[in-house]
Amino acid sequence: MDFEFDEAQLNWKNKAKEFAERDVALVVDEVEKKGKFSMELWEKLMEEGLTGVPIPTEYGGAGADHISYVSVIEELSKVSASLGGSLSVHTTLCAQVILKFGNDEQKQKYLPPLAKGEVIGAFALTEPNAGTDVGSMESTAVLEGDDYVLNGRKYFITHATIAGVFIVIAITDPEKGTKGMSAFIVENDAPGLKVGKIFDKMGIRSTEHAEVIMENCKIPKENLLGNEGDGFKISMITLDSGRIGIAAQALGLAEGARDAAVKYANERIQFGKPISRLQAIQWMIAEMEVKITSAKWLTYHAAFLEDAGERFSKEAAMAKLAASTSAVDVTRLAIQVHGGYGYMTDLPLERYYRDAKITEIYEGTSEVQKMVIARSVLG
Ligand SMILES: Cc1cc2nc3c(=O)[nH]c(=O)nc-3n(C[C@H](O)[C@H](O)[C@H](O)COP(=O)(O)OP(=O)(O)OC[C@H]3O[C@@H](n4cnc5c(N)ncnc54)[C@H](O)[C@@H]3O)c2cc1C
Repeated sequence: MDFEFDEAQLNWKNKAKEFAERDVALVVDEVEKKGKFSMELWEKLMEEGLTGVPIPTEYGGAGADHISYVSVIEELSKVSASLGGSLSVHTTLCAQVILKFGNDEQKQKYLPPLAKGEVIGAFALTEPNAGTDVGSMESTAVLEGDDYVLNGRKYFITHATIAGVFIVIAITDPEKGTKGMSAFIVENDAPGLKVGKIFDKMGIRSTEHAEVIMENCKIPKENLLGNEGDGFKISMITLDSGRIGIAAQALGLAEGARDAAVKYANERIQFGKPISRLQAIQWMIAEMEVKITSAKWLTYHAAFLEDAGERFSKEAAMAKLAASTSAVDVTRLAIQVHGGYGYMTDLPLERYYRDAKITEIYEGTSEVQKMVIARSVLG
């Protein structure tokens, strides 16, 4: 069994690679140091047609498969994990939620601007007291006449400062636990919606994350996604897909760090020869290669299953667990290969290391991935 990209998939991968190397590489350090989302880079991503890769053409997307989409995230993340992660959240956690669970009107209204990237998407599930334990959610949505009125606080929300559309999960029936949660499309100008605390972070600094506050936030009742009570199910299905995107982000940044380490090992002379001739360095490179290759197979296998319409919860969890653990290990080793130079901010190695850590945390921590995998294996 082998995975070969077909021509269309290869075209997407190469397009993203060329874009990342041509337009992103030159500015990524500056953008990360500023710690602000780069609308300029996003607009270039739009020009390349990369903001709606797996969205069907009838809604303004490219209609490509998930393997192509995953390869785009991987290639972008080799250069900027922030940009790769942003694309994953925008596409999988927002546009594809509307694609999978929206009605015709919702799809016609929201998907074209999301697919084109003119509107940026966000997904708001986490709360100050409800992270892994989604069931302790406190945000509520009450139907009053023709509107739902939302109250609550969402935490750590990617794109909160720049999103035009949020998928928000809130409780519509407190008696029913997770079965009483519902999903809503909330526009950023909805009355009563505002951005709260903006978080300063260790890595992926040019992706902005903030608190979203809903105070008697009114949205039309037509913005309910699916039926009342579908919110938990929608969230879990969404996160299954999202985990493949985060695995691709982790994979890409690990490859970026590995490539830098290989180049450096061949160039750096110590004891009269390149350090790549030292067995200690060779072992580190070998370790990186095994981790990256394992992560790659798991990630593309999960994407392949998603394209085939098969179940992929366990495979997505395995891909995310393996790729994120590998990313942290590989970026640490890549710094080691660079010695003191790897610790300095002149080179991107320390950035890769800081960026890698988030992949073990968001869209379900590594512990959660282990729970998903174990449950699936144990039955
Ligand atoms: C940069 C960033 C961006 C994010 N973006 C978004 C976003 O766009 N939308 C969104 O909704 N959320 C977002 N999140 C939230 C993210 O998904 C949560 O942080 C994550 O799910 C963990 O929740 P928590 O932080 O509350 O940790 P907790 O749930 O409090 O976990 C703390 C520790 O306990 C462990 N733990 C908890 N429960 C269990 C258990 N049952 N078994 C074993 N171990 C357990 C965890 O693995 C972790 O190690 C983002 C977070 C960050 C940091």
